[in-house]
Amino acid sequence: MTEELRKIKQELYKKDIEIRELRTLTTKDPLTRLYNRRGFEEEADRLFKDITFARQNPEARKHFYIDSISLLFFDIDNFKKLNDAYGHKIGDQILKRVSEIIIQKVRSIDFVGRWGGEEIIAALVGSHEKDAYQKADEIRKAIKSRVRVPGSDEPVTVSIGVAALDGVTNLGELVKRSDKAMYSAKYDKGKDNVVKYSELKDSVR
Ligand code: GH3
Ligand code: MG
Ligand code: MG
Repeated sequence: MTEELRKIKQELYKKDIEIRELRTLTTKDPLTRLYNRRGFEEEADRLFKDITFARQNPEARKHFYIDSISLLFFDIDNFKKLNDAYGHKIGDQILKRVSEIIIQKVRSIDFVGRWGGEEIIAALVGSHEKDAYQKADEIRKAIKSRVRVPGSDEPVTVSIGVAALDGVTNLGELVKRSDKAMYSAKYDKGKDNVVKYSELKDSVR
């Protein structure tokens, strides 16, 4: 290889690294290392398109057999109070720890993003509502038993809403459903609970 060619190869290699770093910056949340909202939406949109395509094309169904997604919408309970009592840095550590537990508990095909401040969203690929509910409750219990406010024995809890694809055709609607179910877990069940969208009364759907 000539010297010139070697230099070009090196430059290309460096550019490739730069592109990857930029991609991480635009799609990942630096604190929790989860996807940010944009990264999560990109992953989910791709999956929605594949599922819709496979539904409409019998030939594609032979190779792509995923027919559902369920979303788990997490919101940390009393997070403002924890921040106020222990400080923002401790709040950040709690967010990191909760994220780690969620990542540990889902499968590698699933994906998890930070939706907003103390809201985290997980997509369980191929899961229907019943399995997703069980997984959500397993995560809820794990967080309650394993996450403590650093430097104290105060437990941290989360409220979780679950929604499955069913007839939904877009991500926005599915997120809305999981958020509504989370809201019910928080305010009807009194936090540290999981609620499925299918449990909600028609009047609040
Ligand atoms: P609820 O139990 O009803 O969910 O109440 P909450 O206090 O958890 O919810 P609220 O929406 O009132 O407060 C959320 C707080 O989360 C307020 C904000 O300061 C804090 N927060 C948002 N993003 C971050 C962050 O990145 N780090 C830290 N430490 N705090 C954050
Ligand atoms: Mg919130
Ligand atoms: Mg909260």
